[in-house]
Parts: sequence; structure tokens; C-alpha cells
Amino acid sequence: MKHGITQLFIPGPTNVPDRVRRAMNVPMEDQRSPDLPALTLGLFKDLKTAFKNETGRVFMFPSSGTGAWEAAIQNTLAPGDKVLMARFGQFSHLWVEMAERLGLEVNLIEVEWGKGVPLDAYEQAIAADKAHDIRAVFVTHNETATGVTSDIAGVRKLLDAHSHPALLFVDGVSSIASIDFRQDEWGVDLAVAGSQKGFMLPAGLSFLSVSEKALAANKDNRPKMPRSYFIFADQITLNDQGYFPYTPPTQFFHGLRASLDMLFEEGLENVFARHHRLAEGVRRGVEGLGLKLVAAGPEWYSDTVSAIYVPEGVDANRVMKIAYERYNTSFGGGLAKLNGKVFRIGHLGDLNEVMCLAALASAEISLADAGAKITPGAGVAAAHAYYREAHANTGSER
Ligand code: PLP
Repeated sequence: MKHGITQLFIPGPTNVPDRVRRAMNVPMEDQRSPDLPALTLGLFKDLKTAFKNETGRVFMFPSSGTGAWEAAIQNTLAPGDKVLMARFGQFSHLWVEMAERLGLEVNLIEVEWGKGVPLDAYEQAIAADKAHDIRAVFVTHNETATGVTSDIAGVRKLLDAHSHPALLFVDGVSSIASIDFRQDEWGVDLAVAGSQKGFMLPAGLSFLSVSEKALAANKDNRPKMPRSYFIFADQITLNDQGYFPYTPPTQFFHGLRASLDMLFEEGLENVFARHHRLAEGVRRGVEGLGLKLVAAGPEWYSDTVSAIYVPEGVDANRVMKIAYERYNTSFGGGLAKLNGKVFRIGHLGDLNEVMCLAALASAEISLADAGAKITPGAGVAAAHAYYREAHANTGSER
């Protein structure tokens, strides 16, 4: 019989730190109170810092990340607009599906799962588009289904090289606030994030960080996509005064205040370095066990999630079931065509080395129980060696 708390090693929702949880535990409050703006205006400002967006603005919607995907499309594009997208995992797939449902004409590039944005194919499409019919280029920065991170700066470079004016849409749901993201420097026009990953909050708040160019695209008077709840104009009028055009989830705002404070106290660059170190330890552990990542090479490695193939003849779903029922551990599953072949270790948010070692230990024991021929302890030992070496190299006492 399962008892006690379950260790979360899924790639979101992530652990909510006690400080964030306590900050959210406040009595209900008046969403039109005179002092709400003192909280919310600071959040809007600090979210811009987290996205590295100095010139544009950030919207907060009471939705999961998917809502911000929709808001991004509805506010800047129109049915029939041509867009360039690539599919290399379940989340990039779902964004394509949404774009098609909303009537966009998608030039879709299929990419082998395990790789990310195909810069060459994108460049060919952009170079061939002399009339600038492509209105937007989409990239899933971190494909959570496969543990693959894409090169956003590379996409900006190719757009600039061809002086192409397309808007750049980026899904940063499982990257922003965990791994390096630079909205202004990379010329990202619409960047989507969710509360339940690097921001260490429960699911339910989405962030959409937009550039001045995206705001201008929103204002121009072309025929628009029907939209209502997510309409930018209504948000802007009230957000500028610290309010919202609907009842906002004020508890979340207190939690977000605490999570942004934690991110800035650690320092964003240190947060990214920690995620890299933790991820590298997990990857060494996977290698130590003789297992393979879905990510096709180091250039694609994600520092927030590792998708791991189980050995031939082992059912990944059984590994996860054993992990959950016997060892109180939740791993992410293999999504869509990776189902049964892959499990995923999420290593993002409020996490440290010992927690990653625990994740590897639980993976080892669950794999062994499910019939995998692995050497117990080999993954943990490899990660352990790496973490010691990484700390010796930085001289860090942390
Ligand atoms: N994009 C990516 C990369 C994701 O990982 C997820 C969810 O895991 C989503 C989009 C969808 O976000 P949500 O589930 O918050 O709607």
C-alpha cells in the first residue's frame, strides 16, 4: 500500500518551495483594492527581468501555458496567415495542432524526434520567401517530450541574415527561468511560459512576454482572428494600473512574488548554472547505467528534462508504475510515439544534487524490478562523481 509523499521528478509541475507555498497562504482579498497594484506592478516589472525583455511587456493570464500559446497567436495573426513551424515532439506537435485549428496555414517541417529546430530547413524556407508571406516563425525552445533544447539565437540569426520581418514565437514553457533565455538579444517577439515549471508555482498562471514589434503587430488594422478573453487591449488598459479585466488569482501573485525573489536572490545565471550541473549529473547517471537519451547528441541536451530509453524488452510504463507504487516516485512518461519506450526525469525548479541522486536511485531500483539488466548503483555513482568534480572545480561550498 502506497503511503507518504511522492517525490516529483516530472518535468512540471515542479516542487513548490515552502517559501512560495507559505506566501500564497493568505486570506482572500479584494481584487480591486487600492493596494493591489503595489504587488502586481512589481510583478510585471520583474517578469520582464526574468524574460530579459526590457522594451516590451509581459501579460499574465489565469490559464496554463497552453492559454498563452493561444493568446500569442490570436493577438498577432489572422486566419490564413502563413507560418513556419517544426514538429519534433508532443509539445511542438500540439502547438502545430493549435495553429491549424485557429486557421493558420502551417508550413510544417517534420524533424526526427531527438533533434530540435532545423536551422537549415528554416533558412531554406526563409530564403525562398522573397515576398515575405511568412508572417511568423515558431520554435519550441525546450521540447519537454524528448528532452531537447533548440537554438533560438540561431533562428534570429537566419531571420536577420535574410532581413525577414516574420515574428518569432517561442515556447519557453519548460525553459524560461530554468535555462538561458534572452528575449531582447534573441529578438523573440512572443515568448510563452507557465507557472508550474521554472517559476516553481502550481499550474494555473501563464506568462506571455511580448516585444514592441509584437505589440505593433497587434495594433495594426489587418483583419484579425476572433478573440475575446485573451485580447491584449483590455489587458493593457487595466494592467497598466495594476488590475485585470477579470477576477485575477491573487494568491498566485503572492507566490510569484516569492518565487521571483528566490530566483533573483540566487541570481538567474546561477539558476541556469545549477540546472546545467544537475542535468549533467543525471546524464552521467544515465550513461553509467548503459542507457540512452532520446536527445540525439550533446548539442540537443536539455538541462530541464532527460528523456531516457529503457532497454529493449522492458516496458517503460511498468518502470514508472513500479517507481510510483513501490518507491513513491513520479517520473514523466513517454509521450505519443515514445509511450512505453521512454521515461523522463524532470530536473528543474527547486531541486538539488541529492534530489537528483535520489531520482537516479529510484530509476535504478524500478528498472531492476521491471526486469532491466542494469548494475545497481552505477548511475548514482557516475552522477555522484560528477557532482563532486563540478563542486571541486567551482570551489563552491553550496
Ligand atoms: N509547451 C511545453 C514545452 C510544455 O512542456 C508544456 C507542458 O508541459 C506545454 C507547452 C503546455 O503547457 P500547459 O500544460 O501549462 O498548458
